[in-house]
Amino acid sequence: MQRCALLAQCSDSPSGLTRLFCSDAMRDAHVRLAEWMTSAGLQTRLDAAGNLIGRRQSSIQPARTILVGSHVDTVVNAGWYDGALGVLMGLALAELLQEEQAELPTSLDVIAFSEEEGVRFQTPYIGSRAVAGDLQSDDPLLKRLDSAGVRMHDALAGFGCDPSELDAAAYDPPQVVAFIEPHIEQGPVLERYDAPVAVVTGVAGQTRACFRFIGVSGHAGTVPMNMRRDPLPAAASLVCQINELATAQTGMVATVGQLQVQPNVGNVIPSEVAVRLDLRHLDDQQREACFEAIHQHAVAVAGEHNVDCLLEWRQEQPATRCDGRCMAVLEQSMTAENLTPHLLASGAGHDAVVMAQKFATALLFVRCRGGVSHHPDESVEPADVQAGLRVLWRSINKLAENQRQPQQVVGVS
Ligand SMILES: [Zn+2]
Repeated sequence: MQRCALLAQCSDSPSGLTRLFCSDAMRDAHVRLAEWMTSAGLQTRLDAAGNLIGRRQSSIQPARTILVGSHVDTVVNAGWYDGALGVLMGLALAELLQEEQAELPTSLDVIAFSEEEGVRFQTPYIGSRAVAGDLQSDDPLLKRLDSAGVRMHDALAGFGCDPSELDAAAYDPPQVVAFIEPHIEQGPVLERYDAPVAVVTGVAGQTRACFRFIGVSGHAGTVPMNMRRDPLPAAASLVCQINELATAQTGMVATVGQLQVQPNVGNVIPSEVAVRLDLRHLDDQQREACFEAIHQHAVAVAGEHNVDCLLEWRQEQPATRCDGRCMAVLEQSMTAENLTPHLLASGAGHDAVVMAQKFATALLFVRCRGGVSHHPDESVEPADVQAGLRVLWRSINKLAENQRQPQQVVGVS
């Protein structure tokens, strides 16, 4: 907990916490982390994507590796725990292994991913993509500019990384037993359950879309109601319908976070309204069916109000499932610690999404106060972190033990 506070001092802004990819604050954070890693007996290295990795090498050879960690970049004006807590819990595990002089048949790599939030270059997961072998040295992304006009390639080089070595940042999937990401829940469900931790089943898939209703603008006083082509009542009906559809389905979340009304003037009948939808569910087919129902309602309601409706654009991100065997190990560890093994789907994206494409991946949620996240009021209880650490401790020991037995090798998801 003290280290969370110390890391939070490494900020790019004079007030509050903002720590961006390859920034001075990230460098400061790395100096502190590397010091703690070294005294925990870890060998540290900076990879070509700016990830800081501390390795506890198993003396039993040949050894595969268990990865534990999360990201150390933040959003603007962030809380102290999103990302950082997962890295520091990995570090605490390494310290415990050192204290206990435990000899695991696997190596343990504690990873501080360089970039997850997508703030500096408007693209997320730079660090975990490199580790998963999904960011090569010839990737066009390296030419992308940040808001100050700095290329990603140059940001990395300025941080002491060699982007031509990006291919070498990838782990070989057969050599990885599992990746476990401890992370704050960033939602209010564990508080409702009165539980410190939960096993994450997967990360919800997402549909983002924009419906545009087009009518005819006019004077608010002179156009009779039955002669109007007002797109806003149609849009309002769609917003209500979206809310009802999602409320009726377990695990579905739908948000209209933005309405753009043209011309947005109090005494003018609108000409156009754009409705931005964000729809998420762990089951891609259910999400797809819900989206179709929303789309049909949009078309129908446009007809009722004599306006046009366009589905202007639509983006899809499929759901990611966590590895069943890793989940089972986390669940068993919780039971052994007298904790109810709650299962939760994650509505937010995490490095685990990228890692799960290549490695057996699990995500452990730790309760946070009020579900508040991406905000300075983010808060976790030391006792909850301790519960999470006990679960992690049992889990990495179990994973290491299992992988020694060929019939129980944890495969690549
Ligand atoms: Zn995060």
